[in-house]
Amino acid sequence: MASRITTATLKAHRATWWVYVFDNDGRRTRIRKEARMRGSWPGYDVTCSCGWESRTGGATRRSVEDELWLHRYNVQTTGKP
Ligand SMILES: [Zn+2]
Repeated sequence: MASRITTATLKAHRATWWVYVFDNDGRRTRIRKEARMRGSWPGYDVTCSCGWESRTGGATRRSVEDELWLHRYNVQTTGKP
């Protein structure tokens, strides 16, 4: 449950969200997701202020959210990312 992640953990592990976009040649570019960028994107990744990254290369938002939660949970419970 998300409620098990403490405020201290959240402050120490701030997430930056990224989305992937494709140009006309099919090349993938990762751009930082801004709050105003609503809607769904082809792929997501997240980087943490501690240096951890989800490194999915573009997964669904839900699965990246799960990875981020697990990362914070691991740090909080084991001290390891
Ligand atoms: Zn972190």
